[in-house]
Amino acid sequence: AVAEYMRRTPKSKSFSEKAKEIMPGGVTANIKSFDPYPIIMEKGKGAYLYDIDGNEYIDYLLSYGALMLGHGHPKIVQAIQNQIEEDGTFLFGTPHRLEIEMGEKIRQLYPSMEMIRYTNSGTEATLLAIRMAHAYTGKRKIAKFEGHYHGGYDQVLLSVNPPVSAAGPADEPRSVAESKGMDPYYEDHTVVLPFNNLEATADILTRKKDDIAAIIMEPIQGGFIPAEQSFMDGLRKITQELDILLIFDEVKTGFRLGLGGAQSVYNIKPDLTTLGKVIGGGFPVGIVGGKKDILQASAPTSSSDVFDSSQSKKSGAKDVLFHSGTYNGHPTILAAGLATIKILEDDIDHVFSMTDQLKMGIQKLFANRGIAMQTVGLGSIFNVVITEKDQIRHYRDLQQADFALRKELDFHLLNDGIYTKPMNRYSMATVHGEKEVSRTLESYEKALLKLV
Ligand code: PMP
Repeated sequence: AVAEYMRRTPKSKSFSEKAKEIMPGGVTANIKSFDPYPIIMEKGKGAYLYDIDGNEYIDYLLSYGALMLGHGHPKIVQAIQNQIEEDGTFLFGTPHRLEIEMGEKIRQLYPSMEMIRYTNSGTEATLLAIRMAHAYTGKRKIAKFEGHYHGGYDQVLLSVNPPVSAAGPADEPRSVAESKGMDPYYEDHTVVLPFNNLEATADILTRKKDDIAAIIMEPIQGGFIPAEQSFMDGLRKITQELDILLIFDEVKTGFRLGLGGAQSVYNIKPDLTTLGKVIGGGFPVGIVGGKKDILQASAPTSSSDVFDSSQSKKSGAKDVLFHSGTYNGHPTILAAGLATIKILEDDIDHVFSMTDQLKMGIQKLFANRGIAMQTVGLGSIFNVVITEKDQIRHYRDLQQADFALRKELDFHLLNDGIYTKPMNRYSMATVHGEKEVSRTLESYEKALLKLV
């Protein structure tokens, strides 16, 4: 299958070679790399991507879930044009109406987000949420779950995808750095917890409660492994008892699990929430929101608290939490985001029904060939996990899946015009219809016939 991939994509190959001279590995995010080389895309339209060799693909990567309306949606193009025409600028550098409009929409759909601040990415949102938690509780450590991703900085880039040999005991995972160059300080200051294991999590938290400001979690690990309801209920209860804040990182699940995110599905009120991806309509954005008294720590209390080097206080810590960003609350992006939410309010059920149709179709095709597998996921994201296990509940279950067969399958699908990065999850969009789903299932059928 790899030979066929290379036969179909010669321009991608030569372009990748050039890219390697410009960017390390030829990519600008390590995750975008793969063997033998990534496909270089040239155009997108609706549910489809087109590569520089002229091949067409149904896109299930959707920019790692960010594009829930597919590529180049005309109403988003229109919203962007209108904003620029009406406001006459790309950027105000001052408060403006769309910040309020988006804020009100978010509060309506996510009632736990009583106040918000804007950032430029999911990473910046989790970074700010964590700082807010430290400021509010006065505690120095945080906790995260094994296998959960919250951005690429030192405080959270721990035990996201650790080698099993280094990961430590299942009920008390070690904190394992995921990158060279990280400050080892954080291996001690970020406590790693076992997902979907309430007893062990409660035990660790109880021992370390005086140090832990907050738990940050993906309610759905990697966007596809759901927390169990009893685990969520228990976690909310114990964090309240131990005075530990609960941060839901809904960068992936926000608007993808439902308009109100995982918190509406689980009926849990986190103290802080981070959003990103879908709410930017394809442009970079992040939002942090939560309880008013936590967010208020960022409110400047007098002119001397507003950061200005000429006025900085002479000594001691500031009593305001610093948050800034030239592009925060970017009007063009908020216009795109608001238009995206409006369309999803009408079309999200279609996305869920197409997702279910595709999941069920894939399950049936595997069953016909006698291969044990699961489509793991809720809402508009799922993953194809080839496994004998009855249930995938956390990172370590996933590690035992049949990656070799999945990878082969992915190459066959790519060669037949079904795009997701090998081994990745599937994200669905409003533009996936019956036609795309049945074409995808035909490709699966052909691929499985070749493989088993
Ligand atoms: N949190 C979660 C749950 C994510 O999925 C991601 C991105 N994959 C991030 C944070 C970081 O967001 P960004 O890539 O926008 O910085």
